[in-house]
Amino acid sequence: MSGAKPVHAAQTLFPVVDGCLQVGGIALTRLARRVGATPFYAYDRALLSERVRHVRRHMPSGLALHYSMKANPMPALVQHMAGLVDGIDVASGGELRVALDTGMAPEHISFAGPGKSEPELSQAIAAGACIHAESEREVRVVARLGEQLGIAPRLVLRINPDFELKSSGMKMGGGAKQFGIDAEDAPRVMALAADMGLDVRGFHIFSGSQSLKADAIIEAQVQALALARRLGEQGRIAVRELNIGGGFGIPYFPGEAALDLAPIGAHLETALPAVRAALPEAQVSIELGRYLVGEAGIYVARVVDRKLSRGQVFLVTDGGLHHHLAASGNFGQVIRKNYPVAIGNRMDGPATEPVSVVGPLCTPLDILAERMALPEAQEGDLVVVFQSGAYGRSASPAGFLSHPEVLEVLV
Ligand SMILES: *Cc1c(COP(=O)(O)O)cnc(C)c1O
Repeated sequence: MSGAKPVHAAQTLFPVVDGCLQVGGIALTRLARRVGATPFYAYDRALLSERVRHVRRHMPSGLALHYSMKANPMPALVQHMAGLVDGIDVASGGELRVALDTGMAPEHISFAGPGKSEPELSQAIAAGACIHAESEREVRVVARLGEQLGIAPRLVLRINPDFELKSSGMKMGGGAKQFGIDAEDAPRVMALAADMGLDVRGFHIFSGSQSLKADAIIEAQVQALALARRLGEQGRIAVRELNIGGGFGIPYFPGEAALDLAPIGAHLETALPAVRAALPEAQVSIELGRYLVGEAGIYVARVVDRKLSRGQVFLVTDGGLHHHLAASGNFGQVIRKNYPVAIGNRMDGPATEPVSVVGPLCTPLDILAERMALPEAQEGDLVVVFQSGAYGRSASPAGFLSHPEVLEVLV
């Protein structure tokens, strides 16, 4: 048998040789032996590099590209990304350490996120990283810590915009939010920062995540650029940093189509000259997490038991929601939908058997695939969950039932 229909476009990124999925040029069965145990995450370097090239091909050359490392903070992967992007966005003191260890220039590392602790802020100021303040209180703390350290902090204001990214999976701006300083309150906070002798370098305007609609992203970018110009004028600030967010999504579920970057790039190409005229010193950037890494990663678990319960086949695996919460549907999905799943060592087999793939946890929520047609799988086979390079290991409750930790490999 060969030429079985791919379950998902993501699957076609990984070649199949003799029925076995290849990751980083290595057969999955061999990679599993090399890692030494299942379950594990595997990320493909060549796919990561190609994804960055794809974004760069479509975006204007003057636009800076940042990697939001919370999507995948594996140190080796962040190191790989550091050589490809213009900056790294971190969300904690721990992520900051990983980012600094890559050798990325500290001024190209930015630290956003609500509720930063004083030790984290001190770390960032001491490192010379750029702090994206999320509130008036944080601006005051940054001023005080900067004085104590004798270092002028690099400060950008994260703005909660007066618009949102429409049709996004996760709205992180617009309305009442814990993120950023409300746009209408920003002039007051800018004046306050100036009174405290702080140099506000610019703005960070992030409106949402996981959008597959180019039109919606363009609209959010139009509004972000307009808001930044307005705030720059109101605050009489020389805007040097202008992060207009990201929100580029990847298709996870049946019926979802990949985001088309061409119209987004074309729009920015025409919009940036006016921004440059109004804010001549501004380095405009976008920040992407899942779009850069999500499709380059898979999660692999081994079938431990194949059981039949009242007519239904269950493949019980050694991995589950404690390693991959998103695939179980417990990461913000209202109605559970299947991630793309395959049997990695039976890629050529016809997908004829409806099965549920479950994990070893004592909860009915521990599902990796529900009633999905797969090739007939046996004990020892390797279940692959695609689209797992972002918000996988780091977004999952690893301690559940004291199961062993999941491994990671970058190939
Ligand atoms: C999480 C986050 C991102 C990355 O989102 P993706 O959907 O992974 O691209 C970017 N910016 C901010 C401020 C975030 O909090």
